[in-house]
Amino acid sequence: MQVVVLKKDDTIIKIKNVVIGGNEVSVIAGPCSVESEEQIMIIAELVNKSGVKILRGGAFKPRSSPYSFQGLGEEGLRLLRKAADEFGLLVITEVLENSMIDLVYKYTDIFQVGARNMQNYSLLKELGSAKKPVMLKRGLSATVEDWLMSAEYILSNGNSEVFLCERGIRTFETYTRNTFDISAIPVVHKRSHLPVFADPSVATGLRDKVIPMARAAVAAGADGLMVEVHHDPEKALSDGPQALLPHQFEEMMQQIRLIASVIGRTM
Ligand code: PEP
Ligand code: MN
Repeated sequence: MQVVVLKKDDTIIKIKNVVIGGNEVSVIAGPCSVESEEQIMIIAELVNKSGVKILRGGAFKPRSSPYSFQGLGEEGLRLLRKAADEFGLLVITEVLENSMIDLVYKYTDIFQVGARNMQNYSLLKELGSAKKPVMLKRGLSATVEDWLMSAEYILSNGNSEVFLCERGIRTFETYTRNTFDISAIPVVHKRSHLPVFADPSVATGLRDKVIPMARAAVAAGADGLMVEVHHDPEKALSDGPQALLPHQFEEMMQQIRLIASVIGRTM
């Protein structure tokens, strides 16, 4: 199937002092979930120190088990916003369903649509009329074509500020949580005008694999990264095993800055 490329020029999204796409490589970092005021403040401060401008953190979590931590809800959104404002950061957080759009809108700068919702067409259509940018993660078993068509649901409903995030796909390999499809990055660049990020945390599920895959993603031309970081991952309420420790995060930032400059990109 041929993707209809409706737009020729690459999409560049500007939000306050942040540019997504173009020559810029941006990093989104933060915990998997917002757990407490203390936790999100500590993490916001440490990612800010390394030059990050966008803070992540889930308040409504799409967990595989209904018995796992589901997020703090609106209180999580409030704490995330507070921490971001304290350090002059933008906020990105996941919106799980249509009925939550207005609530999440009040606190976030960017809507995150997670892998499990990539084909929730009703949510995508409604985000087409939301007046904030959307990051669309790749579905667990979605082809690049499926993914780009999902993005069209948002674009064709009136929101031109969409970017993508490759986060690994399900394959027969079980060593890593998902299989990181690095080639999806140049494939998307060839087929689409949209910026494409990569999430090496969800893609691997293993802390010690995150830095090498972050390097690979930037070298492959990713327009940015989404990375999970935690100051005390042993105690994290979700995804502790894939969270980078503060010193590892700093190391990753130094390494990807070097790689970005070698391929002529700014960070
Ligand atoms: C996340 O980034 O918190 C997340 C749930 O990721 P994904 O939707 O890619 O599984
Ligand atoms: Mn997570």
